[in-house]
Amino acid sequence: MKVLITEVIWDQGITTLQEEGIEVYYDKDLWAKRETLLEIVKDFDAIIVRNQTKVDQELLIECTKLKVIGRLGVGLDNIDVVKAKEKGIHVVMARHANATSVAEYVMAAILSAKRPIHEANEDVKNGYWDRRKHTGEELYQKTIGLIGLGEIAHRVAKRATAFGMEVIGYDPFITEYDHIVAETGVRIKSSLDEILVNSDFISIHVPLTPSTKDLISTQQLKSMKPSAFLINTSRGGIIDEKALCDSLMNHEIAGVFLDVLESEPVDPSNKLLDFKNAIFSPHIAGLTTESQIRISLLVAKEVGKLLKGQKSLCVV
Ligand code: NAD
Repeated sequence: MKVLITEVIWDQGITTLQEEGIEVYYDKDLWAKRETLLEIVKDFDAIIVRNQTKVDQELLIECTKLKVIGRLGVGLDNIDVVKAKEKGIHVVMARHANATSVAEYVMAAILSAKRPIHEANEDVKNGYWDRRKHTGEELYQKTIGLIGLGEIAHRVAKRATAFGMEVIGYDPFITEYDHIVAETGVRIKSSLDEILVNSDFISIHVPLTPSTKDLISTQQLKSMKPSAFLINTSRGGIIDEKALCDSLMNHEIAGVFLDVLESEPVDPSNKLLDFKNAIFSPHIAGLTTESQIRISLLVAKEVGKLLKGQKSLCVV
């Protein structure tokens, strides 16, 4: 059995596969060498990817032996799952393995929105000691609105509640009897607009699908409080970036934290880079040492199981 890994995996994942007697070919940059990838992929029983490798129709046509696609993460927008299933190929993902990391990133973002310690540090090192300028605001009794109430939102809700925040959420597929609402005290709202109008922070936790593309655009941004911050750790494309630029230009919102963008890595000509209150990170919300070990181990184990004809709970 042979497994092809096209993006970064932690050593523990490779060792797990090898201990199962599986041959591993690992090139962390193969996702960027499309021609080579298309040429060699036909020799493998499984392929393990992150979010950069396009596992599309063109690639799947080349995969005559492929039985399993492993996704080191949870977003599936780079994989043609329908086509894979048609070909009888299993798709497994690292269900829930980086949700805690993303939730902690969201808390870091909202804390830094109101207490920008890095800016204060810069001032002090530049010789300023201005306590008034750096007067912050508490999170206590502020409202966070969660768009999408799945696994990550659940963990954000628990942490925000511990800070004494009001947590409201919108998800048309969740009812008041679901765990996140029943157990975390999230107040569920029946429309997206109620979240936009009432929140001091809005955090997006939906997958990128045709129905969530540009979910946050001109009208939605205009509905937000001018003092509110938007946080996107889900996927680029869910916020309309042109509309976001206009909104920041017109001071319609206080700021935005963008871990994900429509085009990654960021295009240097992206106008959003010009705004001081647009804070970027290079798609790292789910990226911590703990989550990467967890993800690598989980995906390697589940791919190994499927190659041996066993069942996996992580099949999509
Ligand atoms: P999940 O599947 O547990 O939850 C997604 C929720 O979105 C579901 O409850 C679903 O009902 C809801 N939803 C779907 N369409 C909606 C809509 N139009 N309006 C409101 N709610 C809607 O997913 P999750 O584990 O919470 O992850 C969410 C997303 O976060 C993933 O799809 C992935 O793209 C992204 N993610 C990013 C990182 C990162 O490093 N930045 C890491 C992990 C996940």
